[in-house]
Amino acid sequence: PYTGPSADEVLAKRKKFLGPSLFHYYQKPLNIVEGKMQYLFDESGKRYLDAFAGIVTVSCGHCHPEVLNAIVEQSKLLQHTTTIYLHHAIADFAEALASKMPGNLKVVYFVNSGTEANELAMLMARLYSGNLGMIALRNAYHGGSAGTIGLTALNTWKYPIPQLVLLNWLFDMATVETLYPSQKLKGEISHVMNPDPYHGTFGSDASQYAKEVQDHIDYGTSGKVAGFIAETIQGVGGAVELAPGYLKLVYEMVRKAGGVCIADEVQTGFGRTGSHYWGFETQGVIPDIVTMAKGIGNGLPLGAVVTTPEIANVLAQKIQFNTFGGNPVCSSGGHAVLRVLDKEKRQKHCADIGSHLIGRLNDLQQKHEIIGNVRGRGLMVGIELVTDRKEKTPAKAETAVLFENLRELGVLVGKGGLHGNVFRIKPPMCFTKDDADFLVDALDYAMSKL
Ligand code: PMP
Repeated sequence: PYTGPSADEVLAKRKKFLGPSLFHYYQKPLNIVEGKMQYLFDESGKRYLDAFAGIVTVSCGHCHPEVLNAIVEQSKLLQHTTTIYLHHAIADFAEALASKMPGNLKVVYFVNSGTEANELAMLMARLYSGNLGMIALRNAYHGGSAGTIGLTALNTWKYPIPQLVLLNWLFDMATVETLYPSQKLKGEISHVMNPDPYHGTFGSDASQYAKEVQDHIDYGTSGKVAGFIAETIQGVGGAVELAPGYLKLVYEMVRKAGGVCIADEVQTGFGRTGSHYWGFETQGVIPDIVTMAKGIGNGLPLGAVVTTPEIANVLAQKIQFNTFGGNPVCSSGGHAVLRVLDKEKRQKHCADIGSHLIGRLNDLQQKHEIIGNVRGRGLMVGIELVTDRKEKTPAKAETAVLFENLRELGVLVGKGGLHGNVFRIKPPMCFTKDDADFLVDALDYAMSKL
C-alpha cells in the first residue's frame, strides 16, 4: 500500500512551491499514485477507469510492460549523450516513424513536447516560404510558448501579450526587416473561422469555410503566407472534427499563397481515430509538415516533426540542436510504442471500441436532453452538454456536477471547449468494450440523478 504524502499535503506543497497558473481537476484534487494499463489508483487504493489518458498521452497503456522494458533496459545501458555522438536508437526510431508516413514525409526532427514540435514547424514554414504570416483555426490549441501561444486560439490559454512582442521574441526587429522587407510587420498569426459542424455558421459545408480562408488570404494578408496549421480533430477545443473535405480545399489555397501545410497530430496520431493511422488521412490530404507528441511516447517527454527532405533542408543553413530531443531512452521507448501499437492492432481496436462507444452514446443522447452533441472518431470522442438543444447553451454548471459524480463512480474523463462543457473521452488505446459500457452506464446513472 501507498505510504507517501496525502493529497492535502501534496496540494499544500504544490501551492507553496509551484506556480499559481497550474490548475487541477476536481474540487478535492485526485492524488494518483499508480497506473496499470487503462486504470489509475489513488492514495487509498481506489481504482479509476482512465478515460483521459493523461490528456491523450498514454497510448499503449499506463506502464505497458513492453514499453517499460525498453525504457529500463536502455536506461541501464546509457541514458544520455546528445546527438553529437552516434547512437543507433535515434536512427532506428526515425526510420520506423518515417515508415509510418505517406508521401515524401521522410525526415524526422525529435523534440521534447508538442509545443516544441509546433515551434519548430512554424520556424521551418517561415524559412521555407520566405513569408511570416501564419494561419490557424479558432478553437485550436498548439502550445503555450512565445510563438505557439499565437497559434493557440482559446482565450483560456492566451496571455495578454501583443503579437508584435511575440514576434520580437523570435527575431529582433532588424532581422525581421532584412529578411522580410516586403512584409514589414505583417507577421501576424491570424485565426480563421473554425469549420465546426456543430457550432459553425456553415454547418458541415467545407467549401464555405474554405472560401473564408481564401478571403482572408486575399484581403487580410499580402497575398503570401508562411503556412497553415490545424489539428485534424481539435483536442483541447472539445473533440471537434473539421467539416469533411475542408483540409483538401484549404491546403490548395495555402500552397497557392506560397505557404506550407502543417498537421498537428499531437492528439490524433498513431491510430487513435481508428479509421486511419494519422488524423490528416481522414481528410484525404498529405501535409508538408506533421507534428506529433503525447501518444508517441506513452508518457515519455517526446515529440517529433516530420517533413520532406526539401523543407528539412532549410534548417541546414545553421545548426538546429536539441539536447534531449531523441535521446536514447526516449527513442527506445518511442520505438517500442510503435511496435506495441502494431502488434496489438490498436488502430483497429480503436475503430471497434470507438464505434461501440459512440453508438451507445448516441442512444444515451435519446434519453438525456442535456446531451447536445456526440462526436469524434475511434477513441477520440466528445460529448457536448447543453441546457437548450436549439440554442446550444453550454451546460456549464451541470457538466461540473457530472464531472465530480463520475469521479465518485470511478471514471475519469476530460473536459474541453471554451466553456468547459464538453466531456472528452480519450482513453489509453487498450480500453475495452466492457470499459466503454461501464463509462456509458456511469454517465447514464449520473445524468439520471442530476
Ligand atoms: N498540440 C496539441 C493538439 C495539443 O493538444 C497540445 C497539448 N495539449 C500541444 C500541441 C502542446 O503539447 P505539449 O503540452 O506537449 O507542449
